[in-house]
Amino acid sequence: MGTPLDRGTDRGTDRTRVRRLPELQVDDVAVLHGILDAGTVGHLSIVHDGQPYAIPVAYGRSGSTVLFHGSTGSRLFRTLAGGAPCCFTVTLLDGLVLARSAFETSMHYRSVMVLGSCTVVEDKLPALSVISEHIVPGRWALVRPPSRKELAATLVLALALDEVSVKVSDGPPSTSPEDAGFEPWTGVVPFRVARGEPIECEEEA
Ligand SMILES: Cc1cc2nc3c(=O)[nH]c(=O)nc-3n(C[C@H](O)[C@H](O)[C@H](O)COP(=O)(O)OP(=O)(O)OC[C@H]3O[C@@H](n4cnc5c(N)ncnc54)[C@H](O)[C@@H]3O)c2cc1C
Repeated sequence: MGTPLDRGTDRGTDRTRVRRLPELQVDDVAVLHGILDAGTVGHLSIVHDGQPYAIPVAYGRSGSTVLFHGSTGSRLFRTLAGGAPCCFTVTLLDGLVLARSAFETSMHYRSVMVLGSCTVVEDKLPALSVISEHIVPGRWALVRPPSRKELAATLVLALALDEVSVKVSDGPPSTSPEDAGFEPWTGVVPFRVARGEPIECEEEA
């Protein structure tokens, strides 16, 4: 049993209570961190002029904060820098659950949803190194660091892991008496995201 997410205060709000299959909700901060650390891409969502947008982004985790970087010209980052409410999700697809019925065919997954508002990070370099190390560990020490001009063109944002939910689906396929007579293969087809062999490339000037 890990450390529970803090649900004793306004952090454990009604907004982060899973309604559908609530038994799949996990209140363990180690699982939360494990999903965020295993993911590479998340989706940051905002509402702009009444229209929701879910935008894929890179991220990194520092303790109980998620960090993002983006252009000062980006609508997403400018909106978030202004304190707009947002929703951030990370989803790891672990498998396809092939049941006898179309209705029960589903997926194995681990997913995180964070609600809140971002704050602007003034001390950008350490935050940028966290994001870089999250994506390619060890790379930050090798690459040219951002110039003053590049830093000025970059917004760095932090989102606290305060109002969070974690959902994990890992059960076997469900069946029912109505499935009798239907005999497709049933089971789980695992999904993995793996790094391949690096490919040498010509550099572009
Ligand atoms: C890869 C994948 C595929 C899925 N495919 C489907 C599908 O095809 N159809 C379908 O109905 N559902 C699907 N789900 C589940 C879906 O994400 C929602 O959990 C579900 O549809 C809505 O649950 P709810 O009514 O409790 O959510 P809501 O009432 O809309 O949400 C209440 C709160 O629950 C929490 N929550 C809900 N879902 C998640 C989640 N996945 N992870 C973390 N926190 C969550 C959030 O904090 C949210 O604010 C899929 C999930 C994953 C990860």
